Amino acid sequence: MTIFLDVAVVQIQSWLARTPHLRGRRGASRMIREATMAEAVDEMLTKFTDKARRNIAYGDIDGVIALEILRDDAVDEVERHVMRHLRKRLPAAPLRSTRWEGQDSLDAHAADEPLVTHDWPAPVPEWPASKPCDWCRSWPASREATVGAGDDRKQVQLCEDCGKRHRYAGFTTSTTATLKPGVERDLLERWHKEHNSKPTLPDKFPDLALLGKENDNTHLATVYADGNAVGKLNKELRDLRRNGIGTNFDLPQAISNATWSALLAAIEEMSAGTDEMMPVIAHLVGGDDVLVSIPAHEAWWFTRTLQITFQDALAAELADAGLADLPVPTVSAAIVFHHKFSPLPAAVDLAGELLAHAKKQHRGQRASLAWQDITHDGPYPLHHQAPGQRQAPALDALIDAWADLDSLAELGASARANLAVLARHTDPERVKAHAERLGLWDSVQRFLDGPIPLEDALGMVRWWRTK
Ligand SMILES: [Zn+2]
Repeated sequence: MTIFLDVAVVQIQSWLARTPHLRGRRGASRMIREATMAEAVDEMLTKFTDKARRNIAYGDIDGVIALEILRDDAVDEVERHVMRHLRKRLPAAPLRSTRWEGQDSLDAHAADEPLVTHDWPAPVPEWPASKPCDWCRSWPASREATVGAGDDRKQVQLCEDCGKRHRYAGFTTSTTATLKPGVERDLLERWHKEHNSKPTLPDKFPDLALLGKENDNTHLATVYADGNAVGKLNKELRDLRRNGIGTNFDLPQAISNATWSALLAAIEEMSAGTDEMMPVIAHLVGGDDVLVSIPAHEAWWFTRTLQITFQDALAAELADAGLADLPVPTVSAAIVFHHKFSPLPAAVDLAGELLAHAKKQHRGQRASLAWQDITHDGPYPLHHQAPGQRQAPALDALIDAWADLDSLAELGASARANLAVLARHTDPERVKAHAERLGLWDSVQRFLDGPIPLEDALGMVRWWRTK
């Protein structure tokens, strides 16, 4: 039996979005890549070659260092060494190490629980009498930096973590050639390979909002998606392998391929042009996780396409490997609609909470989609408020209702507002009478007793893409 040690940034999405500035997020994306990529891990292990090696069966995921321990008695020492390596490069990131045991990596990670888990929270800074960091406002400022260009140029005071982000962010002209290693460069390179066009990416949220095709260019959607039941597939694959079936199938690679296929397909589905500037700001793509911001009206189609394509692509990879009988993981997602000037950390944290809620509600058994609109619903998760809890619809139910949502979206704002008032007071007769006057009863009816309540449906179509 072999021990496997994984050290990962906990809630990587929250750490990436710790500063409201995209520059801070972009720098963090590069820091995390450079701290955890294969070359960095190999270099970190140069004096430990008899004690540990990189676990190549785990896949190369930003924010995770996965090792195979070669001498059981060295595991504590290796763990401390990895901690020092990561803490130096990611000063404020909360870290977690887990140990697993098994015949090989797949076998070990198919266990329900790790052998041992250690949490290494971000250090609490000591507070001398100094001002807080201008970016994160949670650590003391310890260095000066100049940000912006031209008239926007100004001096800011940053903490250790944000100072590093600033240095790593590089130039802001975001063509593939000038972007530093990280998720956005990966995205542009993959896009170029498939489409032969070389778009750039927006540098600021207001620029991203302007790329929306609909009349409203003030709102964005931050979409966070994550796979369901990947562990279950892992387990069934392990059992098959014990009988010599599927031994060549590389699950981490297949999941990574499916995630990228899904993201590229979702971008292709957007109504906005993608040739010059792609209407996407990508925060995180790793394993089965995707975190991006896009113009608000693109969000429903984008997310639907992402969810369907992930499942189809992974099913195809399994079928190609002769493993068509295995259960195919699905993807659940959360969409948070927010104003282009509303801070990214609030949207990302809310998306994380909604996603956890959606997965719990559906027990990870099907693709589902939670959503909230910070401008209209406020920044606190609606599912925590009683009554009027909002449920996350299953993707199937949403697709089933799509044409009727299209019809609701075509109504004028005041007609929708009137319907919403009636829906809130739950008087089905009056809702029916009003819907009939609008010639919409056929479309409204399903929302009176279907899985998506009418009030929710009206909120969803506020940012619906109309043809
Ligand atoms: Zn800071």
